[in-house]
Amino acid sequence: MSLVEPVTVVPRPVAQLETVIGADRQRRLADAARQFRHRLGDRTIWNVSSTAVGGGVAEMLQVILGYADDLQIASKWVVISGDAEFFVITKRLHNQIHGQPAGGHLTAGEAGHYARMLAANAVELLDHIRPGDLVLLHDPQTAGLTEYLAHAGALVAWRCHIGVDWENEYTRSAWDFLRPHLASARGFVFSRREYVPPWIPAGKVAIIPPSIDPFSPKNQFLAPETVRGILATIGVLDGGLPHEPGAFERRAGGIGMVTRPAEVTADGLPGPDDPVAVQVSRWDRLKDMAAVMDGFARYVAPASDGYLVLAGPAVAGVSDDPEGAAVFGDCLLRWRDLPARIRSRILLVTLPLDDPDENAAMVNALQRHASVITQKSLAEGFGLTVAEGMWKGRPVVGSAVGGIIDQIADGTGVLLPDPTDLAAFGTAVRSLLADQEAASRIGQAAKAHIARNYVGDVHLLRYERLLGSMISAG
Ligand code: UDP
Repeated sequence: MSLVEPVTVVPRPVAQLETVIGADRQRRLADAARQFRHRLGDRTIWNVSSTAVGGGVAEMLQVILGYADDLQIASKWVVISGDAEFFVITKRLHNQIHGQPAGGHLTAGEAGHYARMLAANAVELLDHIRPGDLVLLHDPQTAGLTEYLAHAGALVAWRCHIGVDWENEYTRSAWDFLRPHLASARGFVFSRREYVPPWIPAGKVAIIPPSIDPFSPKNQFLAPETVRGILATIGVLDGGLPHEPGAFERRAGGIGMVTRPAEVTADGLPGPDDPVAVQVSRWDRLKDMAAVMDGFARYVAPASDGYLVLAGPAVAGVSDDPEGAAVFGDCLLRWRDLPARIRSRILLVTLPLDDPDENAAMVNALQRHASVITQKSLAEGFGLTVAEGMWKGRPVVGSAVGGIIDQIADGTGVLLPDPTDLAAFGTAVRSLLADQEAASRIGQAAKAHIARNYVGDVHLLRYERLLGSMISAG
Protein backbone atom coordinates (compact mmCIF):
# COMPACT_ATOMS: atom_id res chain seq x y z
CA MET A 1 0.00 0.00 0.00
CA SER A 2 1.38 3.42 -0.83
CA LEU A 3 1.85 6.12 1.78
CA VAL A 4 1.12 9.05 -0.48
CA GLU A 5 -2.32 9.30 -2.04
CA PRO A 6 -3.53 11.82 -4.63
CA VAL A 7 -6.65 13.82 -3.81
CA THR A 8 -9.13 14.51 -6.56
CA VAL A 9 -9.86 18.18 -6.94
CA VAL A 10 -12.96 19.26 -8.72
CA PRO A 11 -12.43 22.25 -11.04
CA ARG A 12 -14.45 25.29 -9.95
CA PRO A 13 -15.55 27.63 -12.73
CA VAL A 14 -13.91 30.97 -11.95
CA ALA A 15 -16.44 32.76 -14.18
CA GLN A 16 -19.20 32.27 -11.65
CA LEU A 17 -17.27 34.34 -9.11
CA GLU A 18 -18.09 37.47 -11.07
CA THR A 19 -21.54 37.75 -9.51
CA VAL A 20 -19.82 38.10 -6.14
CA ILE A 21 -16.59 39.99 -6.92
CA GLY A 22 -17.61 42.12 -9.91
CA ALA A 23 -16.05 42.55 -13.35
CA ASP A 24 -12.93 44.49 -12.29
CA ARG A 25 -11.73 41.96 -9.77
CA GLN A 26 -12.58 39.19 -12.21
CA ARG A 27 -10.43 40.80 -14.92
CA ARG A 28 -7.52 41.33 -12.56
CA LEU A 29 -7.61 37.64 -11.67
CA ALA A 30 -7.69 36.50 -15.31
CA ASP A 31 -4.73 38.78 -16.19
CA ALA A 32 -2.67 37.59 -13.24
CA ALA A 33 -3.40 33.95 -14.09
CA ARG A 34 -2.29 34.45 -17.69
CA GLN A 35 1.04 35.96 -16.62
CA PHE A 36 1.56 33.33 -13.95
CA ARG A 37 0.98 30.43 -16.37
CA HIS A 38 3.73 31.85 -18.49
CA ARG A 39 6.13 32.10 -15.54
CA LEU A 40 5.25 28.62 -14.33
CA GLY A 41 6.16 27.01 -17.67
CA ASP A 42 6.07 23.24 -17.31
CA ARG A 43 6.43 23.20 -13.53
CA THR A 44 3.73 21.69 -11.34
CA ILE A 45 2.59 23.12 -8.00
CA TRP A 46 2.26 20.35 -5.43
CA ASN A 47 0.24 20.71 -2.26
CA VAL A 48 1.02 18.21 0.48
CA SER A 49 -1.22 17.83 3.53
CA SER A 50 -2.13 15.10 5.98
CA THR A 51 -5.88 14.79 5.49
CA ALA A 52 -8.26 15.29 2.61
CA VAL A 53 -11.40 15.79 4.72
CA GLY A 54 -12.77 17.31 7.87
CA GLY A 55 -10.92 20.51 8.62
CA GLY A 56 -10.02 23.96 7.42
CA VAL A 57 -6.95 22.93 5.42
CA ALA A 58 -8.88 20.37 3.39
CA GLU A 59 -11.70 22.83 2.86
CA MET A 60 -9.38 25.59 1.71
CA LEU A 61 -7.40 23.38 -0.67
CA GLN A 62 -10.53 22.17 -2.43
CA VAL A 63 -11.52 25.78 -3.05
CA ILE A 64 -8.22 27.20 -4.14
CA LEU A 65 -7.08 24.24 -6.23
CA GLY A 66 -10.49 24.00 -7.87
CA TYR A 67 -10.10 27.56 -9.13
CA ALA A 68 -6.42 27.02 -10.04
CA ASP A 69 -7.49 24.07 -12.16
CA ASP A 70 -10.04 26.15 -14.03
CA LEU A 71 -7.35 28.79 -14.59
CA GLN A 72 -5.15 26.04 -16.10
CA ILE A 73 -2.49 26.37 -13.45
CA ALA A 74 -0.95 22.92 -13.12
CA SER A 75 -1.45 21.95 -9.49
CA LYS A 76 -1.87 18.71 -7.60
CA TRP A 77 -2.75 17.73 -4.07
CA VAL A 78 -1.45 14.68 -2.26
CA VAL A 79 -1.99 13.41 1.26
CA ILE A 80 0.77 11.74 3.26
CA SER A 81 0.27 8.87 5.72
CA GLY A 82 1.54 8.21 9.18
CA ASP A 83 0.95 5.71 11.94
CA ALA A 84 -0.93 6.49 15.15
CA GLU A 85 2.27 7.53 16.96
CA PHE A 86 3.13 10.00 14.18
CA PHE A 87 -0.25 11.70 14.45
CA VAL A 88 -0.02 11.84 18.24
CA ILE A 89 3.33 13.60 17.84
CA THR A 90 2.00 16.05 15.24
CA LYS A 91 -1.12 16.75 17.29
CA ARG A 92 1.14 17.59 20.23
CA LEU A 93 3.10 19.97 18.00
CA HIS A 94 -0.19 21.50 16.85
CA ASN A 95 -1.32 22.02 20.43
CA GLN A 96 2.06 23.39 21.52
CA ILE A 97 2.05 25.94 18.69
CA HIS A 98 -1.18 27.05 20.35
CA GLY A 99 0.65 27.34 23.67
CA GLN A 100 -0.63 24.13 25.31
CA PRO A 101 1.71 21.82 27.28
CA ALA A 102 0.53 18.78 25.27
CA GLY A 103 2.69 16.31 27.16
CA GLY A 104 5.78 18.50 27.25
CA HIS A 105 8.85 18.53 25.04
CA LEU A 106 9.15 15.88 22.39
CA THR A 107 11.85 13.33 23.13
CA ALA A 108 14.70 12.37 20.81
CA GLY A 109 12.87 9.11 20.14
CA GLU A 110 9.74 10.98 19.10
CA ALA A 111 11.74 13.34 16.94
CA GLY A 112 13.30 10.31 15.27
CA HIS A 113 9.90 8.76 14.63
CA TYR A 114 8.60 11.99 13.07
CA ALA A 115 11.63 12.22 10.78
CA ARG A 116 11.51 8.54 9.76
CA MET A 117 7.80 8.67 8.88
CA LEU A 118 8.36 11.73 6.69
CA ALA A 119 11.47 10.24 5.09
CA ALA A 120 9.35 7.27 3.98
CA ASN A 121 6.71 9.62 2.55
CA ALA A 122 9.40 11.70 0.85
CA VAL A 123 10.74 8.68 -1.01
CA GLU A 124 7.34 8.19 -2.62
CA LEU A 125 6.80 11.88 -3.29
CA LEU A 126 10.09 12.05 -5.13
CA ASP A 127 8.80 9.54 -7.67
CA HIS A 128 6.51 12.35 -8.84
CA ILE A 129 7.96 15.74 -7.91
CA ARG A 130 10.54 17.01 -10.40
CA PRO A 131 13.41 19.45 -9.83
CA GLY A 132 12.07 22.96 -10.25
CA ASP A 133 8.52 22.04 -9.21
CA LEU A 134 6.90 24.20 -6.53
CA VAL A 135 5.78 22.46 -3.36
CA LEU A 136 3.47 23.88 -0.70
CA LEU A 137 3.69 21.83 2.48
CA HIS A 138 0.81 22.33 4.87
CA ASP A 139 1.17 22.45 8.66
CA PRO A 140 3.53 20.70 11.11
CA GLN A 141 2.56 17.25 9.83
CA THR A 142 4.48 17.89 6.62
CA ALA A 143 7.24 20.32 7.74
CA GLY A 144 9.78 17.49 7.97
CA LEU A 145 9.52 16.87 4.22
CA THR A 146 11.16 20.20 3.39
CA GLU A 147 14.79 19.06 3.46
CA TYR A 148 14.20 15.95 1.37
CA LEU A 149 12.25 17.73 -1.34
CA ALA A 150 14.49 20.81 -1.43
CA HIS A 151 17.55 18.57 -1.68
CA ALA A 152 16.01 16.99 -4.78
CA GLY A 153 15.64 20.42 -6.40
CA ALA A 154 12.03 21.32 -5.59
CA LEU A 155 11.19 24.90 -4.55
CA VAL A 156 9.51 24.38 -1.21
CA ALA A 157 7.27 26.72 0.77
CA TRP A 158 5.73 25.84 4.10
CA ARG A 159 2.17 26.95 4.80
CA CYS A 160 1.33 27.16 8.49
CA HIS A 161 -2.40 27.41 9.17
CA ILE A 162 -2.10 27.81 12.92
CA GLY A 163 -0.51 30.05 15.51
CA VAL A 164 -0.95 32.42 18.42
CA ASP A 165 0.17 36.01 18.76
CA TRP A 166 2.08 35.44 21.98
CA GLU A 167 4.72 32.93 23.06
CA ASN A 168 5.40 30.67 26.01
CA GLU A 169 7.70 27.73 26.68
CA TYR A 170 5.46 25.38 24.68
CA THR A 171 5.22 27.55 21.58
CA ARG A 172 9.02 27.94 21.76
CA SER A 173 9.47 24.21 22.18
CA ALA A 174 7.34 23.44 19.11
CA TRP A 175 9.15 26.03 17.00
CA ASP A 176 12.55 24.79 18.19
CA PHE A 177 11.48 21.36 17.00
CA LEU A 178 10.27 22.54 13.60
CA ARG A 179 12.92 25.14 12.80
CA PRO A 180 15.71 22.78 11.65
CA HIS A 181 13.23 20.92 9.45
CA LEU A 182 12.37 24.18 7.70
CA ALA A 183 15.90 25.42 7.02
CA SER A 184 15.60 24.94 3.24
CA ALA A 185 12.14 26.47 2.81
CA ARG A 186 12.18 29.32 0.30
CA GLY A 187 8.82 30.70 1.35
CA PHE A 188 6.58 30.72 4.40
CA VAL A 189 2.87 31.39 4.43
CA PHE A 190 0.91 32.33 7.54
CA SER A 191 -2.71 33.39 7.96
CA ARG A 192 -1.69 36.33 10.14
CA ARG A 193 1.49 38.35 10.55
CA GLU A 194 1.27 37.94 14.33
CA TYR A 195 1.93 34.19 13.94
CA VAL A 196 5.29 34.47 12.21
CA PRO A 197 8.15 33.35 14.49
CA PRO A 198 10.96 35.96 14.67
CA TRP A 199 13.64 33.72 13.12
CA ILE A 200 11.89 33.57 9.73
CA PRO A 201 13.34 36.22 7.38
CA ALA A 202 10.65 38.81 6.62
CA GLY A 203 11.41 38.69 2.89
CA LYS A 204 10.36 35.03 2.72
CA VAL A 205 6.98 35.50 4.38
CA ALA A 206 3.60 35.91 2.73
CA ILE A 207 0.46 36.57 4.74
CA ILE A 208 -2.44 34.78 3.08
CA PRO A 209 -5.68 34.24 4.97
CA PRO A 210 -7.90 31.48 3.58
CA SER A 211 -11.05 32.13 1.59
CA ILE A 212 -14.41 30.53 0.98
CA ASP A 213 -16.00 29.33 -2.22
CA PRO A 214 -19.47 30.88 -2.36
CA PHE A 215 -20.70 28.17 -4.74
CA SER A 216 -19.40 25.00 -3.08
CA PRO A 217 -21.87 22.65 -1.36
CA LYS A 218 -20.68 24.21 1.92
CA ASN A 219 -21.65 27.75 0.95
CA GLN A 220 -24.06 27.67 -2.00
CA PHE A 221 -27.52 29.12 -1.56
CA LEU A 222 -30.06 26.65 -0.21
CA ALA A 223 -33.74 27.58 -0.10
CA PRO A 224 -35.29 27.52 3.39
CA GLU A 225 -37.39 24.44 2.56
CA THR A 226 -34.25 22.61 1.38
CA VAL A 227 -32.50 23.59 4.60
CA ARG A 228 -35.39 22.24 6.65
CA GLY A 229 -35.50 19.08 4.54
CA ILE A 230 -31.78 18.43 5.10
CA LEU A 231 -32.04 19.07 8.83
CA ALA A 232 -35.06 16.77 9.18
CA THR A 233 -33.23 14.05 7.20
CA ILE A 234 -30.13 14.19 9.37
CA GLY A 235 -32.30 14.17 12.47
CA VAL A 236 -31.84 17.58 14.07
CA LEU A 237 -35.22 19.15 13.30
CA ASP A 238 -38.61 18.03 14.46
CA GLY A 239 -41.61 17.94 12.17
CA GLY A 240 -41.39 14.62 10.36
CA LEU A 241 -39.28 13.52 7.45
CA PRO A 242 -39.43 15.68 4.34
CA HIS A 243 -41.19 14.41 1.21
CA GLU A 244 -38.04 14.99 -0.83
CA PRO A 245 -34.45 14.62 0.39
CA GLY A 246 -32.58 17.96 0.43
CA ALA A 247 -30.89 18.57 -2.91
CA PHE A 248 -27.64 20.47 -3.52
CA GLU A 249 -25.23 21.01 -6.41
CA ARG A 250 -22.16 18.83 -6.29
CA ARG A 251 -18.69 20.24 -6.85
CA ALA A 252 -18.27 18.01 -9.88
CA GLY A 253 -21.63 19.18 -11.25
CA GLY A 254 -24.89 17.30 -10.96
CA ILE A 255 -27.31 17.17 -8.10
CA GLY A 256 -26.60 15.45 -4.80
CA MET A 257 -29.10 14.46 -2.14
CA VAL A 258 -28.65 14.42 1.60
CA THR A 259 -29.85 10.95 2.55
CA ARG A 260 -27.58 9.83 5.39
CA PRO A 261 -28.63 10.53 8.97
CA ALA A 262 -26.26 12.17 11.42
CA GLU A 263 -25.65 10.66 14.85
CA VAL A 264 -27.72 12.87 17.08
CA THR A 265 -27.61 12.85 20.87
CA ALA A 266 -30.72 14.71 22.02
CA ASP A 267 -33.65 14.51 24.41
CA GLY A 268 -35.69 16.96 22.37
CA LEU A 269 -35.53 18.50 18.89
CA PRO A 270 -36.24 22.09 17.84
CA GLY A 271 -39.26 22.73 15.68
CA PRO A 272 -38.75 24.55 12.35
CA ASP A 273 -39.42 27.97 13.93
CA ASP A 274 -37.48 27.60 17.16
CA PRO A 275 -34.36 29.79 17.40
CA VAL A 276 -31.16 27.78 17.25
CA ALA A 277 -27.54 28.63 18.07
CA VAL A 278 -25.02 26.50 16.19
CA GLN A 279 -21.32 25.81 16.52
CA VAL A 280 -19.70 23.59 13.87
CA SER A 281 -16.19 22.48 14.78
CA ARG A 282 -13.85 19.54 14.83
CA TRP A 283 -13.91 17.84 18.23
CA ASP A 284 -10.78 19.64 19.38
CA ARG A 285 -10.26 21.01 22.88
CA LEU A 286 -9.31 24.41 21.51
CA LYS A 287 -12.76 24.75 19.93
CA ASP A 288 -14.13 24.59 23.49
CA MET A 289 -17.37 22.81 22.59
CA ALA A 290 -17.96 21.64 26.18
CA ALA A 291 -17.75 25.23 27.48
CA VAL A 292 -20.11 26.42 24.74
CA MET A 293 -22.59 23.90 26.12
CA ASP A 294 -21.91 25.04 29.65
CA GLY A 295 -22.33 28.74 28.76
CA PHE A 296 -25.55 28.00 26.91
CA ALA A 297 -26.87 25.88 29.77
CA ARG A 298 -26.13 28.53 32.39
CA TYR A 299 -26.79 31.81 30.62
CA VAL A 300 -29.00 31.19 27.60
CA ALA A 301 -31.32 28.21 28.12
CA PRO A 302 -32.91 29.49 31.38
CA ALA A 303 -33.84 32.85 29.81
CA SER A 304 -34.73 31.89 26.24
CA ASP A 305 -36.57 29.22 24.34
CA GLY A 306 -33.63 28.66 21.97
CA TYR A 307 -31.74 25.46 21.25
CA LEU A 308 -28.03 24.78 20.88
CA VAL A 309 -26.62 22.45 18.23
CA LEU A 310 -22.97 21.42 18.59
CA ALA A 311 -21.97 19.69 15.38
CA GLY A 312 -18.71 18.16 14.23
CA PRO A 313 -17.39 15.40 12.03
CA ALA A 314 -17.93 11.72 12.80
CA VAL A 315 -15.22 11.08 15.36
CA ALA A 316 -13.46 8.27 13.52
CA GLY A 317 -13.42 10.28 10.31
CA VAL A 318 -10.52 12.71 10.63
CA SER A 319 -7.34 10.65 10.34
CA ASP A 320 -4.88 13.26 11.62
CA ASP A 321 -6.96 14.16 14.69
CA PRO A 322 -6.49 11.46 17.35
CA GLU A 323 -8.16 13.50 20.12
CA GLY A 324 -11.56 13.75 18.45
CA ALA A 325 -13.17 10.75 20.17
CA ALA A 326 -12.00 11.82 23.64
CA VAL A 327 -13.21 15.40 23.21
CA PHE A 328 -16.59 14.23 21.92
CA GLY A 329 -16.81 11.71 24.78
CA ASP A 330 -16.18 14.51 27.26
CA CYS A 331 -19.03 16.58 25.76
CA LEU A 332 -21.30 13.56 25.99
CA LEU A 333 -20.56 13.04 29.68
CA ARG A 334 -21.22 16.69 30.45
CA TRP A 335 -24.43 16.63 28.43
CA ARG A 336 -25.68 13.65 30.45
CA ASP A 337 -25.00 15.57 33.67
CA LEU A 338 -27.20 18.55 32.68
CA PRO A 339 -30.63 19.00 34.28
CA ALA A 340 -33.27 17.37 32.03
CA ARG A 341 -35.03 20.63 31.09
CA ILE A 342 -31.74 22.13 29.87
CA ARG A 343 -30.48 18.92 28.27
CA SER A 344 -33.60 18.75 26.11
CA ARG A 345 -32.48 21.95 24.37
CA ILE A 346 -28.95 20.91 23.53
CA LEU A 347 -28.08 18.57 20.67
CA LEU A 348 -24.72 16.89 20.04
CA VAL A 349 -24.40 15.96 16.41
CA THR A 350 -21.72 14.06 14.50
CA LEU A 351 -21.93 14.31 10.74
CA PRO A 352 -20.97 11.43 8.43
CA LEU A 353 -17.94 12.10 6.25
CA ASP A 354 -18.53 9.28 3.73
CA ASP A 355 -19.46 11.77 1.02
CA PRO A 356 -17.64 15.11 1.50
CA ASP A 357 -20.18 17.03 -0.62
CA GLU A 358 -23.06 15.64 1.39
CA ASN A 359 -21.22 16.45 4.64
CA ALA A 360 -20.67 20.00 3.37
CA ALA A 361 -24.37 20.39 2.50
CA MET A 362 -25.24 19.30 6.05
CA VAL A 363 -22.92 21.96 7.50
CA ASN A 364 -24.38 24.50 5.06
CA ALA A 365 -27.93 23.71 6.18
CA LEU A 366 -26.99 23.92 9.87
CA GLN A 367 -25.28 27.28 9.38
CA ARG A 368 -28.14 28.68 7.26
CA HIS A 369 -30.75 27.57 9.75
CA ALA A 370 -28.89 29.08 12.70
CA SER A 371 -30.26 32.23 14.28
CA VAL A 372 -26.79 32.71 15.76
CA ILE A 373 -23.49 31.01 14.97
CA THR A 374 -20.85 30.70 17.64
CA GLN A 375 -17.12 30.03 17.41
CA LYS A 376 -15.96 30.24 20.99
CA SER A 377 -12.47 28.91 20.29
CA LEU A 378 -9.64 29.29 22.79
CA ALA A 379 -7.19 29.62 19.89
CA GLU A 380 -7.84 29.66 16.18
CA GLY A 381 -5.52 29.73 13.18
CA PHE A 382 -8.12 31.35 10.99
CA GLY A 383 -11.53 29.88 11.73
CA LEU A 384 -13.17 29.22 8.38
CA THR A 385 -16.46 28.47 10.09
CA VAL A 386 -16.65 32.16 10.95
CA ALA A 387 -16.37 33.26 7.29
CA GLU A 388 -18.82 30.51 6.33
CA GLY A 389 -21.41 31.71 8.84
CA MET A 390 -20.93 35.37 7.94
CA TRP A 391 -21.26 34.60 4.22
CA LYS A 392 -24.68 33.12 5.00
CA GLY A 393 -25.77 36.40 6.52
CA ARG A 394 -25.69 35.06 10.05
CA PRO A 395 -24.53 36.94 13.14
CA VAL A 396 -21.44 35.21 14.51
CA VAL A 397 -20.37 35.36 18.15
CA GLY A 398 -16.67 34.55 18.11
CA SER A 399 -13.76 34.71 20.51
CA ALA A 400 -11.29 37.52 19.95
CA VAL A 401 -8.51 35.06 19.15
CA GLY A 402 -6.42 34.48 16.05
CA GLY A 403 -8.03 34.86 12.67
CA ILE A 404 -11.46 35.47 14.17
CA ILE A 405 -10.26 38.96 15.15
CA ASP A 406 -9.49 39.74 11.50
CA GLN A 407 -12.77 38.38 10.20
CA ILE A 408 -15.27 40.01 12.53
CA ALA A 409 -14.95 43.71 11.78
CA ASP A 410 -16.94 46.35 13.62
CA GLY A 411 -20.69 45.84 13.13
CA THR A 412 -20.27 42.48 11.36
CA GLY A 413 -20.52 40.21 14.39
CA VAL A 414 -19.68 40.01 18.08
CA LEU A 415 -16.12 39.53 19.32
CA LEU A 416 -15.73 38.18 22.84
CA PRO A 417 -12.64 39.77 24.42
CA ASP A 418 -12.25 36.89 26.89
CA PRO A 419 -13.19 33.48 25.42
CA THR A 420 -13.45 31.99 28.91
CA ASP A 421 -16.06 34.53 30.06
CA LEU A 422 -19.15 32.34 29.74
CA ALA A 423 -21.50 35.02 31.08
CA ALA A 424 -20.46 37.44 28.31
CA PHE A 425 -20.78 34.66 25.76
CA GLY A 426 -24.25 33.77 27.03
CA THR A 427 -25.39 37.39 27.05
CA ALA A 428 -24.29 37.91 23.44
CA VAL A 429 -26.00 34.74 22.23
CA ARG A 430 -29.17 35.41 24.20
CA SER A 431 -29.55 38.96 22.96
CA LEU A 432 -29.08 37.96 19.32
CA LEU A 433 -31.56 35.11 19.69
CA ALA A 434 -34.06 37.63 21.06
CA ASP A 435 -33.42 40.53 18.66
CA GLN A 436 -34.02 39.40 15.10
CA GLU A 437 -33.69 42.89 13.71
CA ALA A 438 -30.18 43.32 15.11
CA ALA A 439 -29.26 39.77 14.07
CA SER A 440 -30.31 40.43 10.50
CA ARG A 441 -28.55 43.81 10.29
CA ILE A 442 -25.28 42.29 11.56
CA GLY A 443 -25.73 39.31 9.24
CA GLN A 444 -26.08 41.47 6.12
CA ALA A 445 -22.99 43.51 7.04
CA ALA A 446 -21.14 40.24 7.65
CA LYS A 447 -22.01 38.89 4.22
CA ALA A 448 -20.77 42.02 2.43
CA HIS A 449 -17.54 41.97 4.47
CA ILE A 450 -16.77 38.38 3.45
CA ALA A 451 -17.50 39.08 -0.24
CA ARG A 452 -15.03 41.96 -0.11
CA ASN A 453 -12.21 40.25 1.75
CA TYR A 454 -12.44 36.47 1.87
CA VAL A 455 -13.45 35.21 -1.56
CA GLY A 456 -10.99 33.18 -3.68
CA ASP A 457 -9.58 35.86 -6.02
CA VAL A 458 -7.88 37.71 -3.16
CA HIS A 459 -6.34 34.47 -2.00
CA LEU A 460 -5.19 33.35 -5.48
CA LEU A 461 -3.52 36.67 -6.22
CA ARG A 462 -1.45 36.48 -3.05
CA TYR A 463 -0.28 32.96 -3.89
CA GLU A 464 0.57 34.09 -7.39
CA ARG A 465 2.84 36.76 -5.93
CA LEU A 466 4.61 34.37 -3.54
CA LEU A 467 5.11 31.52 -6.01
CA GLY A 468 6.14 33.96 -8.74
CA SER A 469 8.87 35.37 -6.50
CA MET A 470 10.08 31.86 -5.61
CA ILE A 471 10.42 31.04 -9.31
CA SER A 472 12.28 34.30 -9.97
CA ALA A 473 14.66 33.65 -7.08
CA GLY A 474 15.32 30.23 -8.67
N1 UDP B 1 -16.25 21.04 8.86
C1 UDP B 1 -16.89 20.14 8.02
N2 UDP B 1 -17.60 19.13 8.55
C2 UDP B 1 -17.73 18.98 9.88
C3 UDP B 1 -17.07 19.91 10.75
C4 UDP B 1 -16.33 20.93 10.20
O1 UDP B 1 -16.84 20.27 6.79
O2 UDP B 1 -18.39 18.04 10.31
C5 UDP B 1 -15.51 22.13 8.22
C6 UDP B 1 -16.01 23.52 8.55
O3 UDP B 1 -17.18 23.81 7.83
C7 UDP B 1 -14.82 24.34 8.11
C8 UDP B 1 -13.65 23.42 8.50
O4 UDP B 1 -14.17 22.11 8.63
O5 UDP B 1 -14.82 24.53 6.72
C9 UDP B 1 -13.03 23.84 9.80
O6 UDP B 1 -12.15 24.89 9.54
P1 UDP B 1 -11.71 25.91 10.65
O7 UDP B 1 -10.74 26.84 10.02
O8 UDP B 1 -12.92 26.53 11.28
O9 UDP B 1 -11.01 25.04 11.79
P2 UDP B 1 -9.92 23.86 11.74
O10 UDP B 1 -10.70 22.60 11.75
O11 UDP B 1 -9.09 24.03 10.53
O12 UDP B 1 -9.16 24.05 13.01
